Amino acid sequence: MHDTAPTTPRRFDGDTLVIASHNKGKIREISQLLGPYVGAFPSAGEFGLDDPEETGTTFIANAELKARYVAERTSRPALADDSGLAVPALDGAPGIYSARWAELPDGRRDFDYGMRRLNEALGDRDPAAYFVCALALAWPDGHCETVEGRAHGRLVWPPRGDRGFGYDPMFMPEGHELTYGEIDPAVKHAGSHRADAFRQLVARCFAG
Ligand code: IMP
Repeated sequence: MHDTAPTTPRRFDGDTLVIASHNKGKIREISQLLGPYVGAFPSAGEFGLDDPEETGTTFIANAELKARYVAERTSRPALADDSGLAVPALDGAPGIYSARWAELPDGRRDFDYGMRRLNEALGDRDPAAYFVCALALAWPDGHCETVEGRAHGRLVWPPRGDRGFGYDPMFMPEGHELTYGEIDPAVKHAGSHRADAFRQLVARCFAG
């Protein structure tokens, strides 16, 4: 018989979960999604912490290093995410560099520019693409649980719709004829890479 103990996920049984992000929208979204299981959601900023450098080469590695950084310094469990858009025909680019692909020479982010750049890089290659959301839940003793959610679809050009953010206007999810920029946000939120990742994390570490 195999010993399954090492792969048994650790459950969150505390009251406070530190959100390893400075993004107010993300903090609000995470507190809503995990509200039923957690008492308080202080952010890393409330502990005076900055962001660590994202030196990982995968979404999971970057989420994990951010969560560990905060858990170690606050002595509390911490949750971090990392997300982006991956195009197999471009060897996974822009991938973990999704935000950076939209940076203008002066450092400002402009996703019209990022989308143009992506479309030019794609040329006439296969437009299949998927969004990724990695989540990492780290404890101060060094334990870390990770999950990765995906939403598959394809890239379209020109971009369509102004209801989303980032690369949403050029991403059409599987089974739909509307882009994430056009679709009802409730539909996006139900089927997105983030929804997939949170469903996995809740099943693994929170529910039951
Ligand atoms: P980060 O996870 O905050 O580093 O964000 C990475 C980048 O991925 C964002 O700046 C967006 O460009 C892109 N991204 C992640 N999720 C989405 C999404 O749901 N829609 C559009 N763009 C996204």
